[in-house]
Amino acid sequence: MRVLKFGGTSVGNAESIRAVVEIIAARERPLVAVFSAFSGITNKLNSCLTMASERDSGYHRLLDETEDRHVNTALELLRPGNAAEVASQIRDLKARLSDILNGISNIGEVTTRSSDMVLGFGELMSIRVIYKALSERLGDLALVDAREMIFTRLVNGEERADMETTVKAIEEKLSDNPGVIVTSGFISTSVKGYATTLGRGGSDQTASLIAAAMDAELLEIWTDVSGIFTADPAYTEDAHAIAELSYAEALELSHFGAKVIYPPSIHPVMGKRIPVLVKNTFAPSDRGTLITEKASPNGNIIKAISSTDRICLVSLSGSGMAGVVGIASRLFSTLAINHINVILITQASSEQSICIAIDELHGERAKEVIDEEFEFEIRSGRVRPAILESGYSIIAIVGEGMKHSVGISGQAFSALGRNGVNIHAIAQGSSELNVSAVVKMIDCRKAVDSIHQEFFRSAGKLINLFIVGAGNVGTAFIEQVLTQSGYFEKEYRTEFRITGLANSRKMVIRAKGIRGAEWKRQMMESERSTDLQKFTEEMFDLNLPNSIFIDNTSSPEVTGLYQSILERSISIVTCNKIAASSAYDSFINLKKLAIAKRAHFRFESNVGAGLPVIQTIDNMIKTGDRLIRIEAVLSGSLNFIFNSFCEGMKFSEAVEKAIKGGYTEPDPLIDLRGTDISRKLLILVRESGIRLEASEIELTDYLPHPLPDKFDPGTFNSLMRDYDDFFEMKREGVADRSEKLRIIARYSNSLAGISLDAVGPAHPFYILEGNDNIVSLFSNRYYERPLIIKGAGAGADVTASGIFADILSIINN
Ligand code: ADP
Ligand code: ASP
Ligand code: MG
Repeated sequence: MRVLKFGGTSVGNAESIRAVVEIIAARERPLVAVFSAFSGITNKLNSCLTMASERDSGYHRLLDETEDRHVNTALELLRPGNAAEVASQIRDLKARLSDILNGISNIGEVTTRSSDMVLGFGELMSIRVIYKALSERLGDLALVDAREMIFTRLVNGEERADMETTVKAIEEKLSDNPGVIVTSGFISTSVKGYATTLGRGGSDQTASLIAAAMDAELLEIWTDVSGIFTADPAYTEDAHAIAELSYAEALELSHFGAKVIYPPSIHPVMGKRIPVLVKNTFAPSDRGTLITEKASPNGNIIKAISSTDRICLVSLSGSGMAGVVGIASRLFSTLAINHINVILITQASSEQSICIAIDELHGERAKEVIDEEFEFEIRSGRVRPAILESGYSIIAIVGEGMKHSVGISGQAFSALGRNGVNIHAIAQGSSELNVSAVVKMIDCRKAVDSIHQEFFRSAGKLINLFIVGAGNVGTAFIEQVLTQSGYFEKEYRTEFRITGLANSRKMVIRAKGIRGAEWKRQMMESERSTDLQKFTEEMFDLNLPNSIFIDNTSSPEVTGLYQSILERSISIVTCNKIAASSAYDSFINLKKLAIAKRAHFRFESNVGAGLPVIQTIDNMIKTGDRLIRIEAVLSGSLNFIFNSFCEGMKFSEAVEKAIKGGYTEPDPLIDLRGTDISRKLLILVRESGIRLEASEIELTDYLPHPLPDKFDPGTFNSLMRDYDDFFEMKREGVADRSEKLRIIARYSNSLAGISLDAVGPAHPFYILEGNDNIVSLFSNRYYERPLIIKGAGAGADVTASGIFADILSIINN
């Protein structure tokens, strides 16, 4: 014999009930089918209780809705005569329910008994509709009232299944099975005769009790997901069904929030070694999850992650606790007497503090009773009053494989650390089946997702990119990410997802990612004007693991957001030089903040675009070298201008060509004034570990008369022509000596400066093509001859590749 349980999610409406009827019709006989209330109805009845107890007459409306839902389902599902019969039964039930709620409203109080009585009406109503639907299709059917076979007894203030009476009653009621017996889950009767329930989610337990009492060959739990998943599928996109679990694993998972199966439902079948199969009503051919005594390992060390929300932490501490026998026992007895369930316990080995996690509902009460119990110790200062903190979740990592493996919790916790999730308490059962961590509720989803990615994501890591700026560099970067994505997925099991994108006009944010090749169209069609504050706030709210913020702009408004972004442990990669060249202290503070928050702040493309300059200096310093002197041509645009002009082009023409080629900043005055080179030199010197401010860099003016304050594309060209004669003379001078003009940035002996110099053929800066940059680093190790880095130092593609390289180094970290 088999027992099948169909949850509320399987009997929410006419269409799903039809699917259930077909599943039962196709099953081998004999079987017993157990049904929950329609989805959402128990919650609705719960709201009725609250309203009635507060004398809010709104519960009448909820009752009408409950009635309508059942009657309409009956009308849609059943033949007219049967529908009318069921409708009248529903109306009777509603009238009785209404009387009870009116009574509660008159008294203004709900008791456990009246609450159980009301909540059970969901199952009483649903069975009427379902039984009739089955009887229209099956001939071998009987209905048994669950209240006549599931009995409870009051234990420690809670109604619990009374095995002896229940087993006897089930044997008696179900011994005569014409083929299919249907009954309700959840509802029961106290051994003293009043209505009770088995607790929320309790239909699973009804089915399990029946399976155990009848020695069923299998218990099938039919729900709306294809088994027990590696994490709540409503929560984690990549979760997938687990083929096999042991009873112990299922118990741990359900205890810590996997509500797909109700924890007390495991024990009855476990005692009889009856396998449990979790199946999907809406995909019946899916394999589902089989729970048995000893599940075969599936190659994964951990099987799944579950989480419970709305937890509070209560800590009891004090120097008077160490070495004193009986403190823990008093603490837990007090909680037990007050019916407060403890979900997780941690005690530091100093024995000076005990921390427990409990349901938030009981937080205040727990503190009250603990403070009362330890009143004497608190008064004498040996114990401090209990501290209550709310807003937590518990994440549990479950798997029998953990027993034999080293470093699993380390791996899980470092995934949390990398994503800036702080762990407030940790517990591991001595069975090593479960490691649990308490985190803030706002981080719960990110925590589950990060651990899930760490252990399960078949496609490897998922990196969420939030990109601001989609101009030349931004576009080149996005195109590089898109073209390389297949390669990264295959070779490095890393998927890049553009989750947020903003340009100066519009923004798009999609938790599931902006569809690759269509990003331009999606930006164009977006109805959201760019609001950077909102952009970052939404990024924080999404709180996705492996989020990286990429700044492809040159805007101070964006750098103004860096601090808040790093505060949230989100890494920043930028080609925007403003932050790294701002006041020394604010720059260093950002770097320190990144370290404190385990995030990264990377700006390799600030100097020399894609050239590995900052990375090289970093490595030199880290390995104990010390920079003595830096000489560099750092402006790809100025180098391009002076190269082109030295080869015969007029100065103004060379400037125009540099702008058109995208080698200058959007505002070319920043290049021409030397501001850009200044910033780059500043960054290099700072990366060498030296404190330097922009004002300390000496800029020797190389132009005969000052530049305008503002860039005006209309008049810019004619302005540049005013410089042509001056530079023509300069060229003739250097050409006679076979020299070339270069704008050179230098640092040595605490002096930093920038000047226009002529270099001869023997100088390493003589041969520089197009927009090349060159950096000569003189150090303790590179003393006689410098370490030289040279190559294209401007342009969208190379800058984008510098950004990409930063992202890869973050991922590899
Ligand atoms: P039913 O009404 O069938 O009893 P429940 O809502 O009680 O259904 O349980 C099914 C739900 O449990 C799923 O829809 C899913 O959102 C949730 N759930 C939580 N954790 C898990 C998990 N690890 N695997 C599968 N489902 C889970
Ligand atoms: N209907 C009850 C509830 O929602 C029992 C169940 O569905 O298992 O909790
Ligand atoms: Mg359930």
